[in-house]
Amino acid sequence: MFDVVIIGAGIAGSVMAERFASSGKKVLLIERRRHVAGNCYDEVDANGILIHKYGPHLFHTDYPEVWNYLSRFTEWHLYFHRVEAVIDGKPVPIPFNFNTLHKVFPPNLADKLEATLLRNFEYGKKIPILELKKSADTDLQFLADFIYEKIFLHYSEKQWGLSPDKISGAVTARVPVLIGRDDRYFSDRFQAMPRFGYTKLVENMLDHKNIKLLLNTDFHDVMALHDDKIKLFRKRFKGQLIYTGQLDELFDKKFGELPYRSLDMKFMTVDAENFQSAPVVNYPNNYAFTRITEFKNIHPAKSERTTILREIPQDYVAGQNEPYYPIFTDEARAAYEKYSAELARFKNITPVGRLAEYRYYDIDDVIKRALDVFAALNS
Ligand code: UDP
Repeated sequence: MFDVVIIGAGIAGSVMAERFASSGKKVLLIERRRHVAGNCYDEVDANGILIHKYGPHLFHTDYPEVWNYLSRFTEWHLYFHRVEAVIDGKPVPIPFNFNTLHKVFPPNLADKLEATLLRNFEYGKKIPILELKKSADTDLQFLADFIYEKIFLHYSEKQWGLSPDKISGAVTARVPVLIGRDDRYFSDRFQAMPRFGYTKLVENMLDHKNIKLLLNTDFHDVMALHDDKIKLFRKRFKGQLIYTGQLDELFDKKFGELPYRSLDMKFMTVDAENFQSAPVVNYPNNYAFTRITEFKNIHPAKSERTTILREIPQDYVAGQNEPYYPIFTDEARAAYEKYSAELARFKNITPVGRLAEYRYYDIDDVIKRALDVFAALNS
């Protein structure tokens, strides 16, 4: 009855569902939650503000094909994301750039550092702080140490629950110095938010006669694996299975649990028109939470009140909170590889997305990946 079964109606599963459905295949899409769009899910709250239920999701991409693909399902609200980090009690723009230099250092020192950075690196480039640290120039080493201590170290320790030597280079690369005065958090060619939100965007994607969506459904209730075969509604299923959930769950955690980092999302209404000077303010030091998002600053709304979100990092515990980030320790990777080898026994199961591939994909990476996987399966 179905050519393709897809587990998970987040971004990865929904793109795969739309692609297969548009190519004439009959798709069954199974989702455990009561809604689509995965962790991009957004909704209008009691203050009339569009909030992101699972934390801030900002869209940005350098892939024209991803931008063009999404543009078929949404209009855009053009938006440049900005983030500030509180350093010694003062919010300053990040990524750390020349404006930040002048906010944290006395004029002479800021001018000197600016000139040294321009002499050593290409204008407009983002230099990861660990690379800056390798510089022979002692002023640049001082700057790298300053940013490491004030922005990276304590934020990352609480975000990941790991000592800095265990945090992957892919994560540290996300904390650069920008050679210039651009306060935007991202420098991608395309930056915008779906005008009516991600939920609406995904609903538009899934509005197709070939897609049957089952919400509130755990895949264990309709599907099982036996040897190298898939059973769907107790019958042998020979079609394609796209899996976007946690790989350990697919194999009943037989090699143990894959670790993820979770967040306690604390939403709050503030009885004031505005709360903070940027859409996101990071608190690397002094607090249990890592950052505060003010959603009105992302999706403009007329309201006398404002909704803010504090994120408090915590370990993931199955059934109690959400698995937001894969953890890239050697042990975690080794465990993932065991599940991955197990999966390779099934010719017709393809893992896609942040959970199933155990990768720190951004939204556009997931879409690119889903489009590429679809193309490969059809070549
Ligand atoms: N990070 C940091 N200090 C900051 C912001 C980010 O150390 O002020 C590090 C931290 O390890 C974090 C990573 O960079 O996990 C990525 O942060 P970002 O906010 O860009 O990503 P998101 O959590 O939104 O995926």
